[in-house]
Amino acid sequence: MHSDIDQVLIHRSQIAQRVEQLAHEISRDLIDPVHADDGHSHIALVPILTGSLIFVADLIRHLPMRMQIRLISVSSYPDRATTSQGPNIRTPLDTLPDSLDDAHVLVIDDILDSGRTLQFVTDLLRAKNPRSLRTCVMLRKQRRDALSFPIDYFGFDIPDSFVVGYGLDYNNYYRNLPDIVTLRQEVFSTAKGLTA
Ligand code: 5GP
Ligand code: MG
Repeated sequence: MHSDIDQVLIHRSQIAQRVEQLAHEISRDLIDPVHADDGHSHIALVPILTGSLIFVADLIRHLPMRMQIRLISVSSYPDRATTSQGPNIRTPLDTLPDSLDDAHVLVIDDILDSGRTLQFVTDLLRAKNPRSLRTCVMLRKQRRDALSFPIDYFGFDIPDSFVVGYGLDYNNYYRNLPDIVTLRQEVFSTAKGLTA
């Protein structure tokens, strides 16, 4: 697996530091509105699976408040795709209630690319009437769509190339790499992504 890495873009130590900073910003913004609602509201995190798995696991351990976690599973890069095929909701992992009337919602994804996934998910959530809706991604690609998409929190800007690691996959592999990396070109041109 490690021989497939081309470049390490973001090292695990930088990620850990940034996740902690993001958690501070998020806590600061979310704790007050919930206090102001005087017990009539709660925080609901909505991680978009599968890519946000590692990020959300790290982030929530730095968020010291009560929260619900409502998983949603969306896939835009099925199998060996390295360009978006458009977001598709996947069941049965989704645990969204019919209404989010009492919730301050924070949607969490791994990476903002075209913005189609977040647009799709935030439209779906807005229809459930949350008290507030915020968005957070670990990575934002430096391309026009991503840079113009409104986002409340992001970890790092990265070049417009295909990355894996820290939850992000190619053909469902490489999610367990602790750093955010690019892969060598031959991984895509051979069947290696299947057997790594
Ligand atoms: P968008 O809908 O913004 O184009 O893409 C977001 C989704 O596509 C992310 O949730 C992520 O799963 C996937 N994605 C986008 N860019 C990359 C990438 O560089 N690497 C990987 N592994 N997935 C990506
Ligand atoms: Mg994703």
